[in-house]
Amino acid sequence: MKNITVIGAGTMGNGIAHVFAQSGFQVVLTDISASALEKAIMTITKNLDRLVEKEKITLVEKTQTLSRITSTDDLKTSLKSADFVVEAATENEALKLKIFQDIDQHAPAHCILASNTSSISITKIASVTSRPDKVIGMHFMNPVPIMKLVEVIRGYNTSDEVCSTVLNLSTKLGKSPVEVNDYPGFVANRILMPMINEAICTLHEGVAGVEEIDTVMKLGMAHPMGPLQLADFIGLDVCLAILKVLHDGFGNPKYAPCPLLVNMVTAGKKGVKSGEGFYKYVAGSKELIVSDNFSKNKACLVG
Ligand code: NAD
Repeated sequence: MKNITVIGAGTMGNGIAHVFAQSGFQVVLTDISASALEKAIMTITKNLDRLVEKEKITLVEKTQTLSRITSTDDLKTSLKSADFVVEAATENEALKLKIFQDIDQHAPAHCILASNTSSISITKIASVTSRPDKVIGMHFMNPVPIMKLVEVIRGYNTSDEVCSTVLNLSTKLGKSPVEVNDYPGFVANRILMPMINEAICTLHEGVAGVEEIDTVMKLGMAHPMGPLQLADFIGLDVCLAILKVLHDGFGNPKYAPCPLLVNMVTAGKKGVKSGEGFYKYVAGSKELIVSDNFSKNKACLVG
């Protein structure tokens, strides 16, 4: 396995391209948005610079890693020599089904098709291809170059051979894979998203403010980041999409997204990627500033 195609160059796609290239694979990064591709290459360069500064890699390794990544906005071209595809496009079922139909049509017959989906059924994605045995979930965590876990999701028809290939591949990338079965949200988001949703409901009901909720979970539960900050970091649109998959998939009202989350996404407040969510993000600053919408007593009003 040599040639990797990464589809989607957003928050996750750039990190996935980075780790494959740093591990010696040739990577083609593709996205429908030319500006997303440009931004992704800039982010990868910046992250590699940081590794050079910290003396984790040499300048030569940085140059070699970057030279292994090419980008294109043409899906068909990106798939021509692919041995392995990781799809990391927007968390939307209809979109992913269309992308997998296209990948299946253009990728070589031996190519394994992986999705980085956070919650969408791998079995369903596989069902629109002619090779369901070669379709699998490869769920990286954010930020990809730093987080060790890869949740490997075995679809109903995923073959043992493909599953062990992806477990080995994850190890080659320096990650620790965990194999799970294909049910909504898998393991990571089935547990994480209800907690994030409950934190948003707690804010919405005016029980406490943004900083207070995050502080309780950081200092009280030893979480490195509070749930509201983590939601901003993941992307509020991504959190909402995952909760909808859990809600639809289990038919259980406990997964219903908090109306405040729905409102924020509708208003374009998606967290770090849009510059504002529960906090405000100023380029170049690491200071955490609570969004103007959530001064203490305003929490219950904005919902
Ligand atoms: P994002 O919104 O940052 O990026 C998505 C990218 O997909 C965008 O650049 C968009 O232009 C591109 N895209 C949309 N349609 C496309 C198409 N037809 N072909 C190619 N590219 C297309 O989203 P993200 O946070 O990087 O999430 C990507 C995937 O990774 C989702 O399935 C998400 O659930 C999953 N994921 C996200 C996180 C996280 O913390 N954000 C963590 C793990 C997994």
